[in-house]
Amino acid sequence: MSTDGKADGVKKADKPAILAKTRENLAKIAQWQEKLYADGREGIVFVLQAMDAAGKDSTIKHAMASLNPQGVDVVSFKQPSKEELAHDYLWRAVRALPERGKIAIFNRSHYEDVLVVQVHELQHTYQIAKRCLEDGDFFEKRYAQIRNFEEYLYDNSYRVVKIFLNVSKDEQKKRFLERIDDKAKNWKFSASDLKEREYWDEYQKLYERAINATATPHSPWYVLPADRKWYTRYLVSEVVLNTLEACGPEFPELPKEDKKNLAACKKILLSQ
Ligand code: AMP
Ligand code: MG
Repeated sequence: MSTDGKADGVKKADKPAILAKTRENLAKIAQWQEKLYADGREGIVFVLQAMDAAGKDSTIKHAMASLNPQGVDVVSFKQPSKEELAHDYLWRAVRALPERGKIAIFNRSHYEDVLVVQVHELQHTYQIAKRCLEDGDFFEKRYAQIRNFEEYLYDNSYRVVKIFLNVSKDEQKKRFLERIDDKAKNWKFSASDLKEREYWDEYQKLYERAINATATPHSPWYVLPADRKWYTRYLVSEVVLNTLEACGPEFPELPKEDKKNLAACKKILLSQ
């Protein structure tokens, strides 16, 4: 996978036009989301994965800004709690699924269980039966489990759309330094982020493996350049819009009997 977070061919001069397109997309997204909610037939999960400081949080803030909060759940997947670790790794992903008609944004996700877990070989620290570590390739099995999980969801009227914000190592350094130098951003930085940076190449390799193993027509991965935030936000808005359009929700049409009732109610109201 390319570690270049720059978008080929996009120049700073393009920024005003890109911002205008993003605004257009956001307006369209709001309209589609209302239909998705009213229709209530499909649920959508947007998975956001990235290295630290790639812009997951600001993407949620800006590229999803027009979504009605009533129809959206944002779920952050942090280091698993004791309760979470006492269950299978998909347990918390299942618990975070939205009702149909709603959208869930996973800020990190079940993919951490083939990324950070693989980088640090955390599986050996789990309380699980020996056979789980010995029979076959632990992570190859997990890729297949994730593929099957997402296909299961698709067959049950969900879509899982995965986005990798591909920031470059240089840009990460720049953003870490900003977080250190700017008091208002200090809270975003943790020394452990610097530790994870040492595993940069390992993460890149494992992202590539995970993406190749789990990208399917019904549950695609989008690898988006993430060094220019305004361009990344535009690309994410395109992904969200395209997903909603592919669902193609429609306002439900009332049954004949209910329509008659509406007309009767209107008559009563007008006579008051
Ligand atoms: P952040 O997204 O910066 O708030 O950090 C959350 C941290 O939790 C990241 O370092 C993740 O790698 C870590 N994390 C998320 N899921 C898991 C998991 N299943 N096992 C271990 N660490 C995880
Ligand atoms: Mg972090």
